Amino acid sequence: MIITDSKPYIGRFAPSPTGRLHIGSLLTAVASFLDARFHQGTWLVRMEDLDPPREMAGAADDILRTLEAFSLMWDGEVMYQSRRDEVYQAALEQLQQQDVIYPCFCSRKDIAAAEPVMGVDGWVYPRRCEDASLRKVKVDKQAAWRVRVPDAVFGFDDAIVGHYEQNLAQQVGDFVLKRADGWWAYQLAVVMDDAEQGMTHVVRGQDLLVSTPRQLYLQQLLGLPQPHYAHLPLLTNAEGEKWSKQTLAPALNQQNKEVLMNQVLDILGLPKRPESQMSCEQLLQWATLYWDMSQVRPEARVVV
Ligand code: GLU
Repeated sequence: MIITDSKPYIGRFAPSPTGRLHIGSLLTAVASFLDARFHQGTWLVRMEDLDPPREMAGAADDILRTLEAFSLMWDGEVMYQSRRDEVYQAALEQLQQQDVIYPCFCSRKDIAAAEPVMGVDGWVYPRRCEDASLRKVKVDKQAAWRVRVPDAVFGFDDAIVGHYEQNLAQQVGDFVLKRADGWWAYQLAVVMDDAEQGMTHVVRGQDLLVSTPRQLYLQQLLGLPQPHYAHLPLLTNAEGEKWSKQTLAPALNQQNKEVLMNQVLDILGLPKRPESQMSCEQLLQWATLYWDMSQVRPEARVVV
């Protein structure tokens, strides 16, 4: 494992353009921004537009304009995952040469029929296609590509959550890197891009904590450095559901920018503001001076 301590800080905000920004995404954007600025580091924005069927037309631009409206100014060019097919293809070929991936023709129905156990993020794939002699190749169907995971524990120390680990074979199973519909899976793209952009620190929502051991495993296979991780508390509605497109999270109301920014700074454990009438830009400048990741509590919060 390579830890990237001596390098200058590089962090990022990596939204998926499936909808407009909401309070949960603002929390991630602000926390990753403040952590980067506090460390005099670079803060990048990467558009994770990997899944056109789930995307919303115009959302990518809307997200960038919203970040600007909140004075969350990023460094350098925005990276678009949709333009990086060749990089992901090369990674897949490298893994193929290492003989750790295999094509899978199973439909959800095939998997369900094998009575799989439930893991931390859906079913643990019962490895039907792992054995080439048992694989039922379907000529009319493209294969998904899965990576074979070891019966081993992958863990790390999260700056907010503390130690977190999973046994990949028992709790996750062989996971998909390229989907049967031809689109790249998040896990492969995120690992390639975090490495290529030189990410030293990843600050993101706790919904992704469950993905991190898979990413550590891919980093190990591909010989990539492992960044530091911090997984922020989830913001939920009154029913305790994470705010997201599915739970109809309201888009950020730009008439109310300062109120929303203050709300997010409170959730992140910042002290009381010195004045009541501060602009977003002033609030972010002030918060950079007082930023302290150890003040961020991991527990989910209800925000209505
Ligand atoms: N694109 C992911 C999301 O919007 C975030 C991925 C990441 O931060 O690693 O939920």
